[in-house]
Amino acid sequence: MKIEISTKWELIKAIFITTLISVIFSNILVSIFETIFSPPLVASDIVGATVVSGIASSLAAWIIFRQNYQVTKTKADLKNLNRRLLNTQKKLRKQASTDDLTGLYNRRSFFYRVQQEVARYGRDKKRVFSLLLIDIDYFKKVNDTFGHAIGDVTLRTLARVFLKTARGQDIVARTGGEEFCLLLPDADKDEAKVLAERIRKIVSNTDLGTEKVGIYITISIGVAEISPNEDRDGIYNRADIALYRAKSDGRNRVEVADETKSA
Ligand code: GH3
Ligand code: MG
Ligand code: MG
Repeated sequence: MKIEISTKWELIKAIFITTLISVIFSNILVSIFETIFSPPLVASDIVGATVVSGIASSLAAWIIFRQNYQVTKTKADLKNLNRRLLNTQKKLRKQASTDDLTGLYNRRSFFYRVQQEVARYGRDKKRVFSLLLIDIDYFKKVNDTFGHAIGDVTLRTLARVFLKTARGQDIVARTGGEEFCLLLPDADKDEAKVLAERIRKIVSNTDLGTEKVGIYITISIGVAEISPNEDRDGIYNRADIALYRAKSDGRNRVEVADETKSA
């Protein structure tokens, strides 16, 4: 039989039960003793036997309690420690995959997600996806005019605009200083272009400044849809070339990448 006395309440119960049992037993023993040896026992003998057995059983319950209490406490401490370790691990994992300033995916985790999409597309050519490469136009001017701290506010607010405008399944990342990328699963280049245009327009009409200063910026966007046999760097480079074209054609524009020759 396993005796579990690890809480104070269990200890009280155990002492009560063992004392009760020992009182009953000691009284039975006293009666047997009386019947066999017939010397009439005085009340103090009965009380003495009861007290001695009561103390003995309570002591046994106490010893079991002390041992079980230590084990239970150590178990609880370990459980606590484990939970804290898991939380720290979760936080560290989040920190490693997100951008400090904006809370968006960082470059490393973004490329990992793109890699996953490329693999998915490799298995099923119907699962096309597109990338948007976004670069703020003349962002240096914002820093030069308002200071770096206000520039940071602008980047943070812009990140929120992207998150709000993108679809739920899209991955929004900050891949460089003032460069952002969107991964659009299940979107071909036409759908991606529509979203890119919407984002571009919203950004150009949104005040990204603070309560004190209004800041309006524009963005240029390069769009590319995954092509057969293309890898992660392939689609990224095509989107980058399209972005470069958007910049050189006057900025505040969306340009869609040419398809690969093998497509
Ligand atoms: P373009 O239209 O050709 O892209 O012009 P640009 O000024 O945006 O590009 P450029 O590459 O000359 O400058 C990028 C600027 O972005 C310079 C840099 O100070 C700023 N920047 C990069 N990272 C951060 C950041 O984390 N915070 C702030 N406030 N500014 C940043
Ligand atoms: Mg740039
Ligand atoms: Mg720029």
